[in-house]
Amino acid sequence: MKQYYRFKAEHPGCMLLFRMGDFYELFEDDAVTAHRVLGLTLTKRPPADMPLAGVPHHQLENYLRRLVNLGHRVAIADQVQDPKEAKGVVDRAVTRVVSSGTLVDEGLLDGEQVSRLGAVVLDEHADGLVASLAVIELSTGSFVLSTCRIGALADELARLGVKELLHIDARADGQPATAVAEAAARAACETTARPAWQFRPQEAFETVTRHFGVKTLAGFGMADDHPAIAAAGALIACLSETQVSTRDTRPGSLPASLAHLRPPRLDESNAGCVLDAASLRALEVEKTMRTGELAGSLLGTFLRAGKGSVCRTAMGKRLLRDWMCRPLADRAAIEARQAAVAMFVEDARTADALGELLDQVHDVARIAGRLALGRATPRDVVGLGRSLGVIDEVLELADGAPSLSAHSTALRALASDLGELAEAIAQACIDDPPAHLREGGLIRDGVDAELDESRRLQTDANSWLAEYQAKIAAELDLPTLKVGFNKVFGYYIELTAVQAREHDETLTKAAFTRKQTLKNAERYITPELKDFEGKVTTAEARAIEREQKLFAGLCARACEQLAAIGVFADTMAELDALAGLAAKAVQRGWTRPTIVDEPTLAIHGGRHPVLDETLETNFVPNDVELGVAGNAASRARLALLTGPNMAGKSTYIRQVALLTLLAHIGSFVPADRATIGVCDRICTRIGADDALHRGQSTFMVEMTETASILNSATERTLVILDEIGRGTSTLDGLSLAWAIAEHLAGNDETNSEAGGPRTLFATHYHELTELAERMAGRVTNLHVAVREWTAPDDADGHPEIIFLHRIMPGRADQSYGVQVARLAGVPGPVIARAREVLATLSVQGAGVDKPDVTNVPAARKPAPSDQMSLFTEFVPHPAVDAIREIKLDELSPMQAFDALRRLCDLAETDR
Ligand code: ADP
Repeated sequence: MKQYYRFKAEHPGCMLLFRMGDFYELFEDDAVTAHRVLGLTLTKRPPADMPLAGVPHHQLENYLRRLVNLGHRVAIADQVQDPKEAKGVVDRAVTRVVSSGTLVDEGLLDGEQVSRLGAVVLDEHADGLVASLAVIELSTGSFVLSTCRIGALADELARLGVKELLHIDARADGQPATAVAEAAARAACETTARPAWQFRPQEAFETVTRHFGVKTLAGFGMADDHPAIAAAGALIACLSETQVSTRDTRPGSLPASLAHLRPPRLDESNAGCVLDAASLRALEVEKTMRTGELAGSLLGTFLRAGKGSVCRTAMGKRLLRDWMCRPLADRAAIEARQAAVAMFVEDARTADALGELLDQVHDVARIAGRLALGRATPRDVVGLGRSLGVIDEVLELADGAPSLSAHSTALRALASDLGELAEAIAQACIDDPPAHLREGGLIRDGVDAELDESRRLQTDANSWLAEYQAKIAAELDLPTLKVGFNKVFGYYIELTAVQAREHDETLTKAAFTRKQTLKNAERYITPELKDFEGKVTTAEARAIEREQKLFAGLCARACEQLAAIGVFADTMAELDALAGLAAKAVQRGWTRPTIVDEPTLAIHGGRHPVLDETLETNFVPNDVELGVAGNAASRARLALLTGPNMAGKSTYIRQVALLTLLAHIGSFVPADRATIGVCDRICTRIGADDALHRGQSTFMVEMTETASILNSATERTLVILDEIGRGTSTLDGLSLAWAIAEHLAGNDETNSEAGGPRTLFATHYHELTELAERMAGRVTNLHVAVREWTAPDDADGHPEIIFLHRIMPGRADQSYGVQVARLAGVPGPVIARAREVLATLSVQGAGVDKPDVTNVPAARKPAPSDQMSLFTEFVPHPAVDAIREIKLDELSPMQAFDALRRLCDLAETDR
C-alpha cells in the first residue's frame, strides 16, 4: 500500500491500475468508480474494508479503452522486477499514463483516429491575449508549434486534432485559465494542469534543446525565444515523465524513449486556408453534425462510401484528414498536388502499381512510435520490414513521374539504409509472426547458433521421448504404455488403472512415483524422466530469452533509423493521399478545377460530393458565379439565396464551400468545370444551430460566430451564411441580416474600397432581396426553383409544391411555408387554420415584425365529432362545397348573411 499511495500522490487526477499477480487492481474511490463505469465486481479488503476491484491482466486493453473513452486518465503501475528476484515486495513503477491525448497501442487507437496532446501558454499583448501552442502526436512523433489569438484557440485545437491540452496549473500561476478552459471545451478536448515551472521559457528551451541534442532551434526554422517553445518544453517534460519509464527491468522489456519525436515544425494559425472549428463542424468535414460519425461526412466519402476507402494505408487516411482541416492557400502548392493527382488519374497503370505496393505498407509512422516507446511487437517489426521492402519499387515508380519528383528525391536519400534494415528483418523473422514473444517463435532457424542449439534440444526431446517410451514399454512388457506431457503436470508415464494395479510391485521397483490419478488411468514420473524434463524446460526458457534478446537487437537497429522511417512514412502517406484523391476523381468522374489568384468563383454543373453519392434520387447539378467578369449578376460577389424550406438551399451553399475546400487540398471536384480563386479562409455559419453551447443562447453563439467572420473576412475569403439572424425577433433579425449582407457586400464606410468576400447568403427574409437592386454589381439574387402542381383529385384545391432543387437567378416569390408544413404531415385542420390566419394577415398588408392580428378570426371551438367532418378532408360534406363556392370579396354584408344562413340550413339538413 505504501507503493500504491506513492504512485497515487505522484499522479494526481489519474485512476491507478496496480498490478498484483495476474490482476490489475483498483483501490478505494478508483474501485468504486470502476465498479460504476465498468461494472467490475466490488469487494472489500480487511482490515478497514477498503473497496477493491480488479481486471485480469490480459484484458487490460479492453478496460483501458473504455476508461479513456469516458475521459479518464489512467496510470498503470506494473511489476518492474522479476518476482523471483524480489526480496520482499516486488518492485513496481508507473510505466505509463494513458489518456485521450497519448494513445499509442494498436488496440486503443484505430488507424484513422488521431490522438494528439497539446500544451498551451498565454501571453499578454497590447491587443489582447495570444495563445502559443505545441502539439505532439505521441503515436507517430509529429510535432507542431503554432500561435494564435486566444479567440482562435478552439479553432486551432480542432484543426490540429488535439484531444488533451496541458496548461499551467492555475493555482501556481495567475494566468486566465478560464479562457483556455473555454476554448478546450469548444474543441471538445480534455485539459490537464501541469506544474508552472515546466512552462518557464528558459526551462522549456533547455528541455527541448536537450531532447534534440542541439544548442539552438534555428535549424528547425524558429527563433530560440519563440513563445511556443515554452509549451513545447512542458509537453516533452510531461511525456518523459508519463510515457517512458526507465525502471522496467523485467526480462524481455524494451528500452523506452521519445526518440521518434520529429523536430518541431512551425505551423502558424494564419498559414494556409483557414477553416475554423465552427466551419469544420457545419461543413461536416470529419464527422456529421447529427451523429458525429465519419460516414456521411466529406472525409467519409473518401474513406467509407461505395467500395471502401480510396486510401490504402492508415497514414494516408490521417493525412487526408489533416489536408481537409488545413487546405492550402498557395496556388503553386495546390497546382503541384493537382499535377500528381492528374498523373494518377491519367495513368491508371502507375496508380494500380502504386496501389499494390501501398497495400503492403503497414502503419509505419505508428510502428516507429511504438519502437521508440519500447512497445513494439513482433508483428510491428515484421510489418516494418515488409513495408520498407517496397521502397525500391516505389522509388522507381516515382522516378518515372515528374510530378512526384519531390517524393523520389526523399525516397532516394533513404533507400539504401532502409533497404538494408528491411533485408535484416526479413532474414531474421518468419513471415507470419506471433502477436507477442511470450512463447517465442519469431526468429527463423539458422539465424542464431545459440537459439538453434536450444531449439534442437527441444526437437531432439521428441525423439528421446519416443525412444524412452519404447524402452520402458519393452522393459515392463506393457506395449500400450504412453509417455505424455501436460502443461500443469509436466511429463508423465501413463498406464491404465488395470495395468497399474497388476504391476504395482514392478513399478515401485522401477522407481515409478505416482503423480496423478485419473478415472481410468494412473500417471507416473521416474527420476530419468524428471531429469529430462528439467533439461527441456531450461532449453525452452533459454530459447525464449534468446529470442527476446535478438528481438531487442532488431528493435534497437530499427531505432537507429527512426528519422529515416519517419520520412518514409510521410512520403508514403502523401503518395497514398494523392493516389486516393485520384481514385475518387476516377470513380465519380470529377474534374480538375482551374486555380487562379483573382477572387472569383465559377462552378458549372457542381454536385454535392456526399449527397451525390448517397442520395437515392438523382442529384441535380447546379452552377455558381461570384466575382466573375461580365454582367452585374456575375460580377456580384454576394448572392442572396431565397426559396422554400427543403428546396435545397443549405445543400447548395455547403456544396459550393465543399467544392472550394476540395479544390484547396489539390483534389478534383464533382463539377463539369470550375475556376476557383484562392481563398485565405472558408467561413461557414448556420443560424440558430441546434447545438447549444454550454448555456449560451443559440442566438448569442450565432452572433459571436458572425462577428468573427465580419472581423476576419477579406477579399480572398469565401463566406457561407445560412439563415443568419433567425434566433431573435423578426425585425431585429431582418435588420441584422440586412446590415451584415451590406457589410459583406462592401457597402459601408469600413469596407468601401476593397471588394467584399465571395459570399452565399441563404435567407428566409425575402425583404433582403431588395439589396440586389440597391447594390447592383455587388449583390445578386438567386432562388431555388419549385413547381406548383394541383393534383386532379385534390379536395382542397391548394397546389402542392414540387422541389426541383435547381438554382435560378432572381428572387423567390413565396416562401411556401404552409405547403411545406403540409408535406411534413402537419394535420389538415392545422394547415387549414394556418391558411386562414395567413390570409387575414396578408389582407392587412401589415409590417413584418408586428403583423396586425386584429382580423384573425377566432378559432372554431373543438366541434363534436360528427361536425368534425366539416373540417377534414376525408368525409365530403355539401356545406364544404358550398363554402368553396363563396366569393367572399364580392359579397355585400347582407349577401354574406344570407350565405351564412344557407350554410346553417345545409348543416342542419345533413344531421
Ligand atoms: P433547405 O436548406 O432549402 O431547407 P436542404 O438543402 O436541407 O433544403 O435540402 C433538403 C433536401 O433536398 C436534402 O436533404 C436533399 O435530399 C434534397 N436536395 C437538396 N439539393 C438537392 C439537389 N441538388 N438534387 C437533389 N436533391 C437535393
